[in-house]
Amino acid sequence: MIPSVLPTYNRAPLEFVRGEGSWLVERDGRRFLDLGSGIAVNALGHAHPDLVATLNEQAQKLWHVSNLYRIPEQQRLADLLVEHTFADTVFLTNSGTEACELAVKMARKYWYEAGDPDRVEIIAFEGAFHGRSTAAIAAAGSEKMIKGFGPVLGGFTHLPWGDIAALKKAASEKTAAVLLEPIQGEGGIRAMSDEDLRAVRAICDETGALLILDEVQCGMGRTGRLFAHEWAGITPDIMMVAKGIGGGFPLGAVLADERAASGMTVGTHGSTYGGNPLGCAVGAKLVEIVSDPGFLATVNDRAGALRQKLEGLVATHPDIFDEVRGAGLMLGLRCKVPNVDVVSAGFDAEVITVPAADNVIRLLPPLNITEEELAEAVTRLDAAATQIESASSSD
Ligand SMILES: *Cc1c(COP(=O)(O)O)cnc(C)c1O
Repeated sequence: MIPSVLPTYNRAPLEFVRGEGSWLVERDGRRFLDLGSGIAVNALGHAHPDLVATLNEQAQKLWHVSNLYRIPEQQRLADLLVEHTFADTVFLTNSGTEACELAVKMARKYWYEAGDPDRVEIIAFEGAFHGRSTAAIAAAGSEKMIKGFGPVLGGFTHLPWGDIAALKKAASEKTAAVLLEPIQGEGGIRAMSDEDLRAVRAICDETGALLILDEVQCGMGRTGRLFAHEWAGITPDIMMVAKGIGGGFPLGAVLADERAASGMTVGTHGSTYGGNPLGCAVGAKLVEIVSDPGFLATVNDRAGALRQKLEGLVATHPDIFDEVRGAGLMLGLRCKVPNVDVVSAGFDAEVITVPAADNVIRLLPPLNITEEELAEAVTRLDAAATQIESASSSD
């Protein structure tokens, strides 16, 4: 008999009943150090007092009102995002997938209105993840995501990750947009170098193609800048944001400059819940906290310390770990044993990590994790690795 919850997830036998900062409490009372943050969602950990207060306050006032009316919390969040980024305008969504839908529609509509309606081709990269809707799986293009779901939305070309020479060849006056994650998350914490990001920007400028960056996972302070592309000194034309921006409340956004957004006039897009007062109040508080230069400086300090400790871990366990990759507090450990075994040994050691492609485990701790907690996390990862070593030596 089919379970009452549609069985599309492979769930660990863990049931968390409470969260406190960087910690998750299991039903049986065990306290897990959370290096997953709900896959980069709980940017300020669990039950952050300012976010709780903001949510409670808004909950007393107004939960939902239609986008038929002005929504001051939405306006405030959009103003903050415009103030702190390249963007001139923002559309609020409830998720990264919805942000992907709009980013694709916006890019194509731009060319339609520019008198070039056949310019619909979007170049994306292998290993990408942009969500699970029909457009998002077409954008990712992997067999695993599209197989069995009928006709795939057309107009996407896929290149090997980071292959700038291939992009140079593929991009043309027919390319509507180039779409990529500055650091692939699900794809295994695979970062594009700053130099290559600048090359992508240059190719877009030469051909006129719009650059869409998916910063759903790597954005919102995760790399130590508010958005990852800032390190390369470039700006996109359109950017997808979600996950961390809500700190655990479902929230996403599409940011764009005025030109790229110019096709999206009254009636061309909408959402019932997108931009609702509850989500936007929380999002605005979160952006306020995370965009503070002092906060980001601390993220960079923590990131440097964690990276150094992880390099040490790789050196201590050369049969378990291969290398550290990523940037800021978006780090991956490539494994030499199956990554899911390391995640599972981590559960035994009461530390939470998240598997990704390329046999990587992801470390995406809350951005406000303390130094002591990071040291404890690495001690627990060390215990997990030792457990796997002693199990294999006793075989
Ligand atoms: C998670 C993710 C998405 C999809 O976001 P949802 O909120 O799950 O719809 C899109 N792009 C990237 C890079 C992601 O990590």
